[in-house]
Amino acid sequence: MVNCECVKINTPPPPDLDPCAESIRQAFNGLTQQGKLAEILGKFNGPNAKYKINISIGSLGGDADLARTSNSGIPRTYNIVFNENYPNATSLSKATSLIHEYIHAYFNTLYDDWKNNGNIHAYDEYPPLKAFYIDGTYSSPYSKDAHHDAIASSFINLMAATIQEYNTNMPVAVGAADQFYIDMAWSSLQGTPAYNNSNLTEEAKDRIGSQRAVETYNKPRGIYPVVGTPCNN
Ligand SMILES: [Zn+2]
Repeated sequence: MVNCECVKINTPPPPDLDPCAESIRQAFNGLTQQGKLAEILGKFNGPNAKYKINISIGSLGGDADLARTSNSGIPRTYNIVFNENYPNATSLSKATSLIHEYIHAYFNTLYDDWKNNGNIHAYDEYPPLKAFYIDGTYSSPYSKDAHHDAIASSFINLMAATIQEYNTNMPVAVGAADQFYIDMAWSSLQGTPAYNNSNLTEEAKDRIGSQRAVETYNKPRGIYPVVGTPCNN
């Protein structure tokens, strides 16, 4: 038995873990990983991972986003926080958010490659990011706008294939996903300039918005059924 004059130290409480998101992270690692998806996931998971992602659930300060990625303050470590305001979001909704946030974190690793490791070609594949970070010519002052622009132009098909395989357990090639999953991929960009300035028709935007709401609240809407399964925390 230990007696002590215990001193209370004000340390922040540990973040709340998100078991649902953790299980999706595990499931992602079991997907058929090819090309870019393997490159993204491999940066954060597995034996050669050089970066780390912490996943939690909590407040996003009144923000309506489903999740957010930020630097943790620890080198090569990023935090993904799922918004606590969507307790009924389906596993498909959260998988869609997770792959979107993984791509943000991936872009952050490219920043590390460029800024800290001197790789001037880090952004060559992604013109909006090169314009923002290297050339200083991007049209918006917000890095997230450049990120979303790059996601819209380079990652919709990869996101769609990822969440379709996740939800159906059937491998699907990038570029061959069903329209529903392409819509879900686009739904993760709703509200961004990349989404607003895309060539999606108003009809498509209505459909995408409805499907996103269905999965966010696990509630059918009009002709749109719930496709994902409940997230059992
Ligand atoms: Zn985003």
